[in-house]
Amino acid sequence: MSRIGAPTGERLRIGIAGVHVECSTFTPHSTGYDDFTVRRGADLLALFDFTRPGRESWAADVEWVPLVHARAVPGGSVDPDAYARLAGELTDRLGRCGPLDGLLLDLHGAMHVAGRQDIEAELAAEVRAAVGPDCLIAAPSDLHGNITEALVAQLDLLTAHRLAPHEDEWLTRARAARLLTDCLRRGVRPAMAWVRVPVLLPGEKTSTQQEPGRGIYGGLAAIEALPGVLDAALWVGYAWADEPRSAAAVVVTGTDRAQLSVQAQELAERYWRARDAFSFVGPTGTAREAVEAAASSPLRPFVISDSGDNPTAGGGGDTTDLLGLLLADDRLAERGLRTVYAGVLDPEAVARCAAAGVGGAVDLLVGGRLEGADGRPARLTGRVDFLTADDPDGGPTAVVTARTVSVVLTSRRRPFHHIADFTRLGLDPHGSDIVVVKIGYLEPELLDLAAGWIIALTPGGVDQDLIRLGHRHLTHPLHPFDPAMPDPDLTPRLFPPGPAAERSGGPAGAVSGAAGSAAARAGADR
Ligand SMILES: [Zn+2]
Repeated sequence: MSRIGAPTGERLRIGIAGVHVECSTFTPHSTGYDDFTVRRGADLLALFDFTRPGRESWAADVEWVPLVHARAVPGGSVDPDAYARLAGELTDRLGRCGPLDGLLLDLHGAMHVAGRQDIEAELAAEVRAAVGPDCLIAAPSDLHGNITEALVAQLDLLTAHRLAPHEDEWLTRARAARLLTDCLRRGVRPAMAWVRVPVLLPGEKTSTQQEPGRGIYGGLAAIEALPGVLDAALWVGYAWADEPRSAAAVVVTGTDRAQLSVQAQELAERYWRARDAFSFVGPTGTAREAVEAAASSPLRPFVISDSGDNPTAGGGGDTTDLLGLLLADDRLAERGLRTVYAGVLDPEAVARCAAAGVGGAVDLLVGGRLEGADGRPARLTGRVDFLTADDPDGGPTAVVTARTVSVVLTSRRRPFHHIADFTRLGLDPHGSDIVVVKIGYLEPELLDLAAGWIIALTPGGVDQDLIRLGHRHLTHPLHPFDPAMPDPDLTPRLFPPGPAAERSGGPAGAVSGAAGSAAARAGADR
């Protein structure tokens, strides 16, 4: 069924689905089926606020059809059986849900499944086969995705977050859904101009909290305001995936193919020209230098990012390089420097703490299990200060204090992004001298907390030192791996394929009769 061009007032049927995870191929952690939070039915719709009746005027007169949505904390490669189960359920539900006018396909863009190289494109192709050629598919994604032409070719609209940290992640999904709805109502099948930019930088250098990321991302709104443009998106890519596709990319979506091509190329060239201006969002040092800086700083609390093992970027969450240095540093105890370390994944150690009880003495070897041959547990001898059997993020969790260092031990990989993540474990980050978090750039509440800050360039699954990681499958030349590379050809490719000058919403036959006039109106509407 094709109802592109359904007049306003006619009820649209739009499905919502997604498989959303970011995978480091450098961590031995494996993301299994149980690591995903899988939502269906009303539970799925509750996640997408705009589907609530009366919430958004553009979302009225839409039957939102919940399919299946799976999301996991970033981690290692997705287990192939887990992926097959999720993708199978999605295509099965698509086959049984009846005709859809549109589909919102929520992707991250940096999922990895062992043995596959571009899993989002494979998934999108399966989804396309299930919904047919007439259904419009819009995909919101994370700007840390690696976006190929094979993926773009299956979609009608693809956009990404514009802020890192991703304070706008739900705005991105709502924007994609609104644009999809608008296109369906106006009979527009959008075109997309895609270009790969051969630059691969870590997220900690491309935050939108500082230049040049802030200015480049800040410019996207002006591009999408141009006649014939609906959306502009830039992906910095995901550096910890050792795949041929890993690189930055630009997609500009709209109706004026010539305009899309011009804007996509300009945006790509702007990113390419800025490549050497990206720098870490804060001061950096080795693990030893970070401990030195924290111990000697007059700024309290002083925050250390244990960046190589950041679970929200895909780190395993149990490396102990930095923790070991802190526990061995006599200055912290001598100077009474209250230190919080959040945290280490170690369910067995948590169980031993639970057996000892609050106030009990423990002598533990913690962490260092996931990282294989390189992993070393740290010796933690102290007192159990806090226990919970069911922290909503970390599962069974313990806090053990060794002299002045309090260490959070968790049973599940989890982020520490909010002050409440600490206070509900009985910890007081504001009253601490040193706060260490497995994170890269600081989320807003941690940025507010930090009187002083350093990013420790620790080893791990999301090591910020990309060169020492030793990728083997990247497509070369690629900055910064090939420092002498020439300026690349940044001519965009247009989807659906056709001449750039063609001013229409797509290939003849793919758009209903209303589409031509709708496409012509699109400029004025924006
Ligand atoms: Zn991201």
